[in-house]
Formats: sequence, structure tokens, C-alpha cells
Amino acid sequence: MLREKKNPYEIDETVYKRFKQKNNMLFRRLWDNTLATYQKMIDTNIEKHIESKKEGYSRVDFALVAAGWTVYERFPNAFTWERKDLIDIGYGVNWMKSKHIIENSESFTKAIKKAAKFYGASLVGIADVNEKWIYKTGFKRPNEISEAEAKKGVREGKAADSIYDQPIELPEGIDKVIVMGVEMDEDAISTAPAQPAAAASAIAYSKMAFIISCLGEFIRNLGYRAIQCGNDTALSIPLAIDAGLGALGRNGLLLTPEFGSRVRICKVFTDLPLTSDQPHLEFIEKIKDYCKNCFKCAEACENNAISKEENPTFTPATISNNPGVKKYYVDVEKCFEFWVENSSDCGNCIMVCPFSKIKEFLSPLEFWNKT
Ligand code: SF4
Ligand code: SF4
Repeated sequence: MLREKKNPYEIDETVYKRFKQKNNMLFRRLWDNTLATYQKMIDTNIEKHIESKKEGYSRVDFALVAAGWTVYERFPNAFTWERKDLIDIGYGVNWMKSKHIIENSESFTKAIKKAAKFYGASLVGIADVNEKWIYKTGFKRPNEISEAEAKKGVREGKAADSIYDQPIELPEGIDKVIVMGVEMDEDAISTAPAQPAAAASAIAYSKMAFIISCLGEFIRNLGYRAIQCGNDTALSIPLAIDAGLGALGRNGLLLTPEFGSRVRICKVFTDLPLTSDQPHLEFIEKIKDYCKNCFKCAEACENNAISKEENPTFTPATISNNPGVKKYYVDVEKCFEFWVENSSDCGNCIMVCPFSKIKEFLSPLEFWNKT
């Protein structure tokens, strides 16, 4: 067992293996018949919730959530590994074919970060690609097909298991990753676990799709390669930590100094010659100490999915946790059971975390009435 010099993790190299995405709960619910949530999804209880007339669970609330996913689900160019065709949209294409000469990596890195923020990222950092975080196998979306189309068969349970168990290898020369955080709406998250909080998550996913589409094309217009990713292809949290965006919290999520866990993460892998950031070691140490004595997220979790151990461990809670890293493991089976019951993701562990910096906690009705 060794503590790697260049990164902030304690990794047991004899145990750690690249993650198989089929073990992610959203895929496991499709094939693992030992789960209470086998073949269930968050739509299971929606009509029951709507009929209950409970505040924050009305048809209007669910409409807000589902519509928030629109760009993420429907836009075919969101998650592509390469540009299929060079289409002239009125700016010509010849100038896009050669490689832009980058004379100064540091100043160009500033330009890339500027572009990422310009397209809508709240946070951006750069890291060297660490192969450990790339999925060993996973779902590879066909190029230029929307998420909804690509996953239709999978979601209906009609696709072969091999569809979400394909080998994942980044092409040679792709050695940098631009990692971005997208802030989730503070007021909406404050209503967790009601549906406006799920809508904050949904719209952040759609913003991710928008941002990486534009940033990927920006990079390709300069003659370099861009692989646009959401949660696919690689583990986003360690990439974000490597890129200096924050630390891993007890809640199993990235905590950032700016927004705590109130962010969604997306990334673009590239062969651009960028200057990497360093992990934010000072913040990582701060979170390590803070989470030891703060159990707010664990206490707020309705299904006791979050560890109440004082110290992080090497003991995973389920096969959906990738073993070999010392951390607080979250029992994501229990978490997903609550999602199915709640008819959406939940967000309690984001809402209560002091690092999320929520100034005012609103009821769903107050959320809708706030102008
Ligand atoms: S999302 Fe909700 S159910 Fe899942 S771990 Fe966080 S608080 Fe628990
Ligand atoms: S709520 Fe407390 S224990 Fe949980 S992640 Fe935030 S700071 Fe850490």
C-alpha cells in the first residue's frame, strides 16, 4: 500500500482496478436481479406521487424536472469522440484543417479556461490523464446520436449486456483532460429531496451537454481532438480532484470551495498541449478534517446510505463502489432505493452540506413563488 506522491489519494495498488461502468447503479438495476431496485427506475412511483398532491411532487414539478433534461437527452452532438463531418456553417472550413500553432502553453491554457467559462462552465481545471480513472469497460455512445436514442434499447431492457460492457480506451495522444463544474441552482437544491432539487440537477446536465458541445467544437476548429464526456468514459470525481477543483466528501461527492457539492461535473479529453493544474491539497486536508467530525450528510440521508464511520476506510459498501481507495464509501444500493421511492435523484446530502453555502432554505411552494 502506498500514498502516491503526485496525487492526494491513498490507493491500495494490489486491489485497485479500473471501474466497470456496468456496476454503476443505473446499469446494475438493469441486470442485477439481487437488487431491490432490479428493473425499476425513477418513474416507478411518479403517478403515485402526483396523485398524493404532496407539495413539490405535482405534475408541474415533474414536468420541470423532465424538461430540464431536454438538451442532455435530445441533442445528438453533446457527447461525441470526434467530428463526423466538417460542415460549412458560413465560416468556411479550410482554416480549420491544420493545427493551430500554440507557442505558449500557459497562455493558451488560460484561453481554453476562458472559453470553457464563456460557454457556461462555473469551474474549470486541467489535469494529466490518469489511466486509473478511465473506465475499463462501459457504455460507448455511437457518434452523433443523442443520449435518448442511444440508450433507448438499454433503458427498455432490450439491448444485449455487451452494449454497456464495451472496452474503453482513449486514443493515443489524448493525454489531457479539461474538467468543468456546473453550478446547480441554490434555491432549487434547498428544496431537496422534492422535485425542484431534481430539476436543478437535470438542467445542470443539459448545461453540461451545451458546454462540452461548444468547447469540443472550439478545440476541433483549432485542429486538435476533443472527446466530450458527461458521466461516461471515466470517473469524473478523481479527474476533478486531479484538476484542482476540490476534494472528496463523506457524501461521496466532489466538494468544491466555491459551491461544495452543488455542482455537476463534465470533462473534455484532448491532445491540446495544456498546462495542468495541481490538486488543491490545502482544501483536501481541510475537508478531510471537517468530514471526520461533521455527519450532516449522513444524518440527512433517509436511507442511511452514507457512512457514519469517523475515519475513511478501504471497505466498499457494495459492488458499485470501486475498491482500493481509502474513503467514505456510500451504499449506493440504498441511495438508489430512495431515488426510486422519491421518483428522482434526491440531493439531501448536497443541501445540508455547509460547503454548499445555501443561504435560504425554501419549501417547494416558496421556490415556485420566489421571483
Ligand atoms: S442522494 Fe439522498 S439517498 Fe443518496 S446518499 Fe445522498 S442523501 Fe442519501
Ligand atoms: S455534510 Fe459534512 S460530512 Fe458531509 S460532505 Fe459535507 S462537510 Fe463532509
